[in-house]
Amino acid sequence: MSAITCSHVEKSYGATSVIRDLNLSIEEHEFVVFLGPSGCGKSTLLRMLAGLEDISGGEVSIGGKVVNDLDPGDRGIAMVFQNYALYPHMTIFDNIAFGLKRQKVPKAEIQQRVEAVSKTLGLDPYLGRKPAELSGGQQQRVAIARAMIKTPKVFLFDEPLSNLDAKLRNHMRVEIARLHQSLKTTTVYVTHDQLEAMTLADRIVLLRDGKIEQIGSPAEIYERP
Ligand code: ADP
Ligand code: ADP
Repeated sequence: MSAITCSHVEKSYGATSVIRDLNLSIEEHEFVVFLGPSGCGKSTLLRMLAGLEDISGGEVSIGGKVVNDLDPGDRGIAMVFQNYALYPHMTIFDNIAFGLKRQKVPKAEIQQRVEAVSKTLGLDPYLGRKPAELSGGQQQRVAIARAMIKTPKVFLFDEPLSNLDAKLRNHMRVEIARLHQSLKTTTVYVTHDQLEAMTLADRIVLLRDGKIEQIGSPAEIYERP
């Protein structure tokens, strides 16, 4: 069974069509990158998978279930944003724990799970700090930790590295690849960076003007004669 299916998915803003009759099937454990120039519809499509954007037509399924009318919190997904979207007044601990607290997970379990993901991401020394006291790379790790702790069926990343400098971007890219190798969580990752796409993706979905222009492994897309 596919982890995610888009069937004849459409999106328009008024008379402007942004995603057109898009069909796509993503397998379980796959790392799929949406790649393409600014304005081609990558974020819109990702946000429709997340439930942050209404679908104008067609169907999105996650885990075999049509999710068109489901809230983001009920889709089994966790999203990581470009701007990290942390709560500035909360500690790192509380930022990471936020989703679990809302689900009324018992305190001792929250404590244990926060400590486990913090350790994986090297965040344990910072749990008592506020986001502004952390570097950009550390803040992005917090955002990833907050997504990981929910043990979602699907990770959605929206240009997670574009606010980092080149060195840190390389470092985090490797970290994300390693995380995927160990967790194997189905991932959809939006970027306009070809290097990120080539190094992270099992399959690249090349978008242009709201349509799939090409789809395939990095080798199939970039090493064709
Ligand atoms: P990408 O992520 O590939 O840069 P987007 O998905 O952000 O592209 O945008 C795709 C197209 O949809 C762009 O032409 C953009 O101007 C348009 N668009 C995005 N959001 C809105 C909106 N709220 N209202 C009108 N047009 C929008
Ligand atoms: P409550 O959640 O009712 O405020 P807790 O005893 O769970 O009480 O924790 C109090 C606060 O201490 C938490 O909200 C969190 O900010 C912080 N905290 C708990 N564990 C840690 C930890 N390992 N490192 C840093 N801060 C922590």
